[in-house]
Order: sequence, then C-alpha cells, then structure tokens
Amino acid sequence: MPREGGSATARQPDGATRPVTVLCTGGVGRSGSTLLVRMVGQLPHHVTIGELVYLWELGLLRDHRCGCGAQFSNCPFWSEVGRLAFGGWPALDRDAMLALQRSVATTRRIPLLVVPWVVPSFRRRLDRYTETLSRIYAAIAQVSGAAVIVDSSKHPAMLYVLRRTPGIDLRALHLIRDPRGVAYSWSKEMERPERPGITFPRWPARTVSRRWITGNLLVAALARLGVPVLRMRYEDLVQDPAGELNRVLRAESRRPLPDGPEFLHGDEAELVPAHTLAGNPMRFRTGRIRLRADEAWRSSLPARKRRLVSTLTWGLRRYYGYTGPAPVPGRRPA
Ligand SMILES: [Zn+2]
Repeated sequence: MPREGGSATARQPDGATRPVTVLCTGGVGRSGSTLLVRMVGQLPHHVTIGELVYLWELGLLRDHRCGCGAQFSNCPFWSEVGRLAFGGWPALDRDAMLALQRSVATTRRIPLLVVPWVVPSFRRRLDRYTETLSRIYAAIAQVSGAAVIVDSSKHPAMLYVLRRTPGIDLRALHLIRDPRGVAYSWSKEMERPERPGITFPRWPARTVSRRWITGNLLVAALARLGVPVLRMRYEDLVQDPAGELNRVLRAESRRPLPDGPEFLHGDEAELVPAHTLAGNPMRFRTGRIRLRADEAWRSSLPARKRRLVSTLTWGLRRYYGYTGPAPVPGRRPA
C-alpha cells in the first residue's frame, strides 16, 4: 500500500524514487490542447489529467464532471488521489487553497515566481502551495502507474509554479495555433458542457492578440530558465499526428513508434475515456474522431478582425511560420 502524503517522488519498478515527470502544455486557450493531451495521454507510460489548474475551483468546489463522466467527488481515480495525498480531499480547506492559488499563480505574479525570495511573504505562500501540489502529483503518479503525467493547464503561471514545485521534473509542451484561428474560436459562443445554458466568456480580437503574444512569449521564456520546452503547432499535429507524437517521445528520450501510436488509424484517432479535469467539451468524446484542422476562421472571421489580429501579432506570427493568409504546413522556425 503506498504511503499517504509525501513530496512528489514516485517509486519506480527498480525500487528507486525519482522526481515525478510532468509534461504540461503551455500557451493560449483554444489552441487544440484538449485534443493534444488526449492523444499524448494515450502514449505508452503516459497519463493525462486535464487541467489541474482548475482542481480547486471546478473539481473540489463546484464538483464538475471528470472526463470519465462521473462527478469529481464520485470519480474513483480522483478519490484515490485525494486519499493517498491527504487521507481524503475533505482534509483540505478548498476555499483557502483557491485563495492561495489566486495569490501566487497569476500572470501578474510571474516575475515573483522567477525570484520568489525577494518577497518573503510571497515565498512562504508559494512554498505552502507547491507543497500541496507536490503531494497531488505524487499521488497521481502512484494511482496511475504512469511515468509521465500530462497536464493541460496551459496557463503560463501554472508552469512557473510547477518549476518551483519540489520533486517535479517539469517539461513544457508549448502548443501554438494560428492567432486568427484562436481569435475566431474565442469570438464564438460556446456552451459549458457542465452547465447547460451558461457559455464560456468571449474575448475581443484585440485581447486575443495581446494574450497570444504574452502567453507564447512567457512559455518560450521557460527555456531560458532551464525547463525543456517542446514547441508544437496545432496545424502540424492534425496534419501529421504520428510524426508530432513521436517528437514528444523523442524529447523524453524514449524510442519513437515506427508505425505511429496504435490508436491512430489514418486520419482518425481512437480515444478512450480519461480522468481529465476541465477543458473543452471534446474531453468527453470517446471512440474514433477525425483529425482535421479547424480552419473555419478563413471563411468566417470578419476581414476587419482578421486584419487587426494579423497586424498586432505580425512579428511573432511570422516567427512561428504563420505567414500570409495561411499557415505553411510543416514549416518551423530553425
Ligand atoms: Zn474520472
């Protein structure tokens, strides 16, 4: 029986304990990360948990459904994680944890997350928060038995927090999508799967452009701080999923799969249920899904908004290979 609590080290088959490897997506919402982590989570030795950043708010406080279909409080996977980490989730003060998260893990706090020692009170709050996260990831590693935990939190601040979390070997999976596709997605009304009649907020094109630039730059900057960062474009993923998923394996020094993952069948992926927190409605889908780039923005994003996003994101957009009216398949910056 695994012990309860403890920091984020996982006992390996050879009896040794090593840091828990967390592969966390970073970037801007609506870039295809739900699809990406569903597939990466089905690679050998991997498990996906969805967006752990929403554990307090959507899991513990609102009891939203897990990707397996059960309410969070009834999900056997998350119940066991809570039991191993804390002797059960009720042992944690959920409101206090949410408040603690909001006081340390926001974009505005990222400079302090880089040098937390300059403000001792911040450092103490951060230590309290990361100690809790450490126990949760250790429990996830034990319950799942996976070597790599795939987290689709995306928020740059979450990655900067994980970099400071004891016992975690953090890898960033930087997912990028053409900003015009991102802008179009945020302009649409999308109903929250857990709350019929309630829609996700919509962002104006100018806001999307700003967040696309800052989000991508902040994730890219992690490489300067020693975090391995693997950059991937959504458009390349749907065009060549086997090739892109093999890049993930190679980045982890694992052997690539010569015939591609077994869940890929031509341009379709066979998805199995996963215990994912938060994420877009496709996290509940199982069975075969067609992998096709969502290019609706080309015909449906109004010309004025398209010009605005194209102009505001010009430099970084070109750097990531999104030149002209369409992304260039397969082209990546050197
Ligand atoms: Zn579940």
